[in-house]
Amino acid sequence: MDLVRWLPGLTHRDCAAARLQATDGARSVQGQPFYWRDVAAPDARLRVLVVGGLHGDEMSASSLAMRWLALADAHPAGVHWRFLPVLNPDGMFRPAPQRTNARGVDLNRNFPTPNWTRESRIYWEQRARKDPRRYPGPTPLSEPESRFLHAEMARFQPQLIVSLHAPYGLLDFDGPAMAPPRRIGRLHLDPLGIYPGSLGHYGGVHRGMPVVTIELPSATQPPAKAEADTMWADLLTWVRAHWPATAAPSPAPVPDPVPSPDPATEPSTAPPPEDLPWTDPMLDTSLPPENTPR
Ligand SMILES: [Zn+2]
Repeated sequence: MDLVRWLPGLTHRDCAAARLQATDGARSVQGQPFYWRDVAAPDARLRVLVVGGLHGDEMSASSLAMRWLALADAHPAGVHWRFLPVLNPDGMFRPAPQRTNARGVDLNRNFPTPNWTRESRIYWEQRARKDPRRYPGPTPLSEPESRFLHAEMARFQPQLIVSLHAPYGLLDFDGPAMAPPRRIGRLHLDPLGIYPGSLGHYGGVHRGMPVVTIELPSATQPPAKAEADTMWADLLTWVRAHWPATAAPSPAPVPDPVPSPDPATEPSTAPPPEDLPWTDPMLDTSLPPENTPR
């Protein structure tokens, strides 16, 4: 796959330098592999998973993941990073990139949050008014793309997930009680609330893995290099404040991505969220459509 064709701002040189690997076994609905790359400091004290392109029409998010991969490669900063820059290849690698996967599922509504069957239905029918771009799928983890990411969370055991999106121009945080980042580059913390099936709700609220969600201001224009670098520096500053390298034990080695991820099997232990109906500013009709830069 020629990522340069699809990711704005990416050069062939960047792409070669990234040394992405394609998964051996895990595949999208249409049989495409997922790309990944690990960058680990020899003294890594923290595992961070960086995910981009869960929504196929948010190319800027994948471009930023690639820029950050290059920065991590140059200076991993005591972290074991795993980058998954293009999680919805079927949605992105097409003449008109689309948010959903090839089966029309919004992968960021397909994670197994508590009471998913009931709540995702209510959410989609009542809050999203059956917007096809937000269809949560027939069952949690019904899609190979969400299953792959779910399996990666189990294999890699990230202590932090950074999820890259666009185009709302803000910063969100889900997770255990800790001070979220207030600002990353020009983006300021503006909590979106939680909704059924999202990665932030599943990872951050249900599993207790902190999830930083970055919503870039444009889906098609990635941040300029200087801004991307400032964002990276701000992220590292926040990471260091919360995970002082000397205070944490060395993490155990983790396996590379392996074929055939399994569906969720872990029991649901967290109580269901109490703040129904969900607040979701993404559904505010005063906001621009998702692939329109603000
Ligand atoms: Zn998105």
